[in-house]
Amino acid sequence: MGLVVQKYGGSSVADAEGIKRVAKRIVDAKKSGHQVVVVVSAMGDTTDELIDLAQQVSPIPAGREFDMLLTAGERISMALLAMAIKNLGHEAQSFTGSQAGVITDSVHNKARIIDVTPGRIRTALDEGNIAIVAGFQGVSQDKKDITTLGRGGSDTTAVALAAALEAEVCEIYTDVDGVFTADPRVVKKARKIDWISFEDMLELASSGSKVLLHRCVEYARRYNIPIHVRSSFSGLPGTWVSNEPQGNQPMEQAIISGVAHDTSEAKVTVVGVPDKPGEAATIFRAIADAQINIDMVVQNVSAASTGLTDISFTLPKTDGRKAIQALEQAKSAIGFESLRYDDQIAKISLVGAGMKTNPGVTAGFFEALSNAGVNIELISTSEIRISVVTRADDVNEAVRAVHSAFGLDSENDEAVVYGGTGR
Ligand code: ADP
Ligand code: ASP
Ligand code: MG
Repeated sequence: MGLVVQKYGGSSVADAEGIKRVAKRIVDAKKSGHQVVVVVSAMGDTTDELIDLAQQVSPIPAGREFDMLLTAGERISMALLAMAIKNLGHEAQSFTGSQAGVITDSVHNKARIIDVTPGRIRTALDEGNIAIVAGFQGVSQDKKDITTLGRGGSDTTAVALAAALEAEVCEIYTDVDGVFTADPRVVKKARKIDWISFEDMLELASSGSKVLLHRCVEYARRYNIPIHVRSSFSGLPGTWVSNEPQGNQPMEQAIISGVAHDTSEAKVTVVGVPDKPGEAATIFRAIADAQINIDMVVQNVSAASTGLTDISFTLPKTDGRKAIQALEQAKSAIGFESLRYDDQIAKISLVGAGMKTNPGVTAGFFEALSNAGVNIELISTSEIRISVVTRADDVNEAVRAVHSAFGLDSENDEAVVYGGTGR
């Protein structure tokens, strides 16, 4: 029997009962003969609560201190989980990200893993322990400061450790039975997907299906680590994410894998930009220098009378203040008239590799939105995805309409959500 990495999300360890339930599952895996490495998230909504707290003392908290604060959440759960396992008569040791050898760059709040040196984890396993690792955190290579990997980053910790330790599989335990054709909190008739390719999962994740983090899927694809997403509350098999289907996984991928939505982004419009070469470059250099990732970009046709145009782009809401600040500072270099900030938007995306070879998918998507009376503000596409921005208020209805229009509704079982607050 080989080594397995199991990751338990915040909803799976939300309280003492949850921690004890998860401890039993981990012990069962160990008893079946596996070496077990566990990555654990902060309990319940702890991370959100810590962020709220930070914002009460400072509107833009210093990155280094913010990371130091947030990593406390995972420390609590890792220690409690190790205690619960010991209480069941098995040996367990907990490790911070730094102790586990998760080495990152020094970009606070969204650091990237650049190396994993899990010497202490190997030793702990060889001595017969279950190793418990705090997810979502690492230590920067140059300054040796504590970093975090961005929201949902425990998924990435798990896959990175699975790759470094050459695990058989990385199991991601959460509060739903796997990856569904849409968020089961929004679409009760969503269907569980038995197998999905890395390619489609990457698009779903980057379009807002937070059941798996985009970076984690990227990492798993690079190192070819199969991921099994499943519920920590039920014994049901979940969703396999891998290059190729294996065993009795379905051989054919559906034309459309699913519908994703994202309400975590905001839209910035730079109004009255001179329509001449170099303007967009100056705007987006200012944004990049502030370490902000943008998503969609749209430039309007300029008005002939004024020679001015508007440029809109979307970005994480959490970077909104920083972006406005960076643009204000670059105002004289860019020469715009004003800035508009809108955080009442949502992005809805349809994802599926079959789109490449099936005409009419785009038309069907827009028809479904039109029939639901949903207005479209921005559009962007890739080879296997179409995304639109709409009003945030329309998001649930839009997702359900698109899900039905593409025949994704299941006839029988309603998707079960076992825990979590959806925050
Ligand atoms: P964890 O605490 O385990 O990390 P998350 O809240 O990060 O859990 O992710 C699980 C949640 O992802 C589910 O409760 C569900 O609401 C949401 N979700 C969004 N899209 C999907 C999808 N396509 N399939 C399954 N869950 C999804
Ligand atoms: N606790 C962190 C968060 O809530 C990391 C994680 O859960 O993956 O984002
Ligand atoms: Mg998560």
